[in-house]
Amino acid sequence: MGLHMQVIIALLLGLKRNGHIFIGLLLGIIVGWQMPQADFPQLYKVLHFVGEGFINIIQMVVLPLVISAIVIGISNIGDSKQLTKFGSKMLLYYGIITIAAVSIASAVAILLHPGVGAKELVNQSIIQNIQGYVANAIEYQRENLANIFMNMIPKNPFASLASGNMIPVILFTTIFAIALTKAGEISRPLISLFESIFAATMKVTDWIMYLAAPGVFALTASAVGSFGIDVFSNISKYILAFYIAIAIQFFVVYPLMLKVFSKVPAGKLFGAISEAIMVAFGTASSSATLPLTITCCEKRGISNRVCSFVLPLGATLNMDGTAIMQTIAVIFLTQMYGIELTPLLIVEIAFLAIIASSTSAGIPGAGLITIALILNGIGLTPEQLVIGFSLLFTLERFIDMFRTICNITSDAVVAAIIADNENELDYELLCGKQVEQKA
Ligand code: ASP
Repeated sequence: MGLHMQVIIALLLGLKRNGHIFIGLLLGIIVGWQMPQADFPQLYKVLHFVGEGFINIIQMVVLPLVISAIVIGISNIGDSKQLTKFGSKMLLYYGIITIAAVSIASAVAILLHPGVGAKELVNQSIIQNIQGYVANAIEYQRENLANIFMNMIPKNPFASLASGNMIPVILFTTIFAIALTKAGEISRPLISLFESIFAATMKVTDWIMYLAAPGVFALTASAVGSFGIDVFSNISKYILAFYIAIAIQFFVVYPLMLKVFSKVPAGKLFGAISEAIMVAFGTASSSATLPLTITCCEKRGISNRVCSFVLPLGATLNMDGTAIMQTIAVIFLTQMYGIELTPLLIVEIAFLAIIASSTSAGIPGAGLITIALILNGIGLTPEQLVIGFSLLFTLERFIDMFRTICNITSDAVVAAIIADNENELDYELLCGKQVEQKA
């Protein structure tokens, strides 16, 4: 049987196992499509309430989970040689996956010319709505790249913690965890405390998952119902290019990476994380999905040592789906404004997309904010941006749902490869039965 068939069958089996979430997702699409927001405003108030409530409740566990997972991950790895080995492998594989993503996205966008002739489609009312927003984003990005890196250094880790600013939190936690490990036996009580926090947050995640079906239903219905199905036709080439690139990344690059760098069967891995994939689709947030990504990977045999180190870092830094969207969106804009796409400009866009995507937070819409970094980098003016952004905004949520699937799947792919390389993967669990959660 061909690899793609195996992947699709595994996904279908995964969907069957999580049928209730899948039904929520399908019902969400049907309700959003048949009962648009404009005709049923009261219904959408309820849907927004339920959907946002679900995201909030799931995000509630993210900070304690990320911090405890990184501390446990680093202390489990132990000596600094191993840590360097794990860390450099992680960066290498995340690097390869993101470079593949931007290369595919550039090629597809160049072949399909999504932006040519799109200018007439601009909607004036949307332009006005987002004008202020874009001006702020540009102002922020204009500070230049160095500032963006500077902001990643946590002057006050508690302030970063309180504002949910993930990159400084991760940087501080990583340094702190390395120090704890180096300090030796005296750190044991504190590490045990983080182990308890981790166990408790995973338990809370299990409970939250009882709400997954209504949550995913409400989020999907709100997304579909608010933009209306006919919006698709307006920027169809942009959407087509995006979906083609995402599909190549999902069905070709991930299985290929798994085949070249490990013995992990792609179908089994995709099936194992199908629950996380559906929640990623519903929430459009890799951070909110993180607890579930970890649960799925651990239940199906990837060791806690690897999961707790690779997945939290990946959920923040590895955003290949976002990089795909950003590359295609910027090429769309340059074509729309008739800017000549020289090979050098394409490389610059791709390079900036790698940086911009990895500085995006794992929350809905983050990728569209950091896209301003790329546009600034290639010298587009705010006026040009306003028109372009208005187009990109129309379908943002729906594009976001798909790129978030890629973002979390590639984290799991890298975790599986590293687990395979380091003998940290239980193949019996991955390929066979699932372990029951301990009570
Ligand atoms: N929503 C994406 C994520 O959480 C980030 C983005 O906006 O691209 O992974």
